[in-house]
Amino acid sequence: MLSPLVFVSHGSPDVALQDGATLQCWQQLGTTLPRPRAILLISAHWETPQPVISTANQPSTIHDFGGFPQALYQMQYPAPGMPELAERVTQCLAVNGIPLTQNAQRGLDHGAWIPLRSLYPQADVPVVQLAIQPVAGTAWHWRLGQALQPLREEGILIMASGAVTHNFGWLARQGAPVPQAQVFSDWLGEKLAARDVPALLDYRQQAPYGAAAHPTEEHLLPLFVTLGASDADETLTRYTPEYCYGGLAMDAYVWGA
Ligand code: ZN
Repeated sequence: MLSPLVFVSHGSPDVALQDGATLQCWQQLGTTLPRPRAILLISAHWETPQPVISTANQPSTIHDFGGFPQALYQMQYPAPGMPELAERVTQCLAVNGIPLTQNAQRGLDHGAWIPLRSLYPQADVPVVQLAIQPVAGTAWHWRLGQALQPLREEGILIMASGAVTHNFGWLARQGAPVPQAQVFSDWLGEKLAARDVPALLDYRQQAPYGAAAHPTEEHLLPLFVTLGASDADETLTRYTPEYCYGGLAMDAYVWGA
């Protein structure tokens, strides 16, 4: 049986301090999805020129944000690493001609540990992080996902963490969701449901507000890894818990559950 694929929008770090709809959505996913042997996590917050994977036995918790309440800086997510999974990922990419560098110092960034502490609060599922390459674009990440597909037969949960919309100019302290964010996130949902890969890969040209939703695209690129690892006949479920600060759609997607 194939392990499911998960994409989450991680939102602003302080989502971890509110017991809101997003945390409830993540908690529900953690209790309903089959328990994985380990997680391969692709976060928007680890950007490298070439593919890199984390190999620490005990990755640290990175507080890679500024200006938030002190409680966030005290949070720890002590999940173990899994060097043998890093080796397995190295093999999967090598088969596809993609070299992979190892990094034994890299910990878990907030794109990883903030959703994970709701999905797997015991921090007892090993986590390995794979970096993204923003200069390489959407098709590259889709291809990475294809290369990772065999892991789904080995009890590994491939989980991507980014944002469905990520324009800070759309954010507000309060108020209704920004219409552009709704239009773009709904377009994305429709194209993913229809599995229109060409349109998705070309979202900056084809989607309404595509380039505006992602002035830089590192927060959407993890989604293409999960898309690449998915199969055409799989069910796709979209979760739309809320909008964070009006402009960050907190949509999550699960394939194959
Ligand atoms: Zn982020």
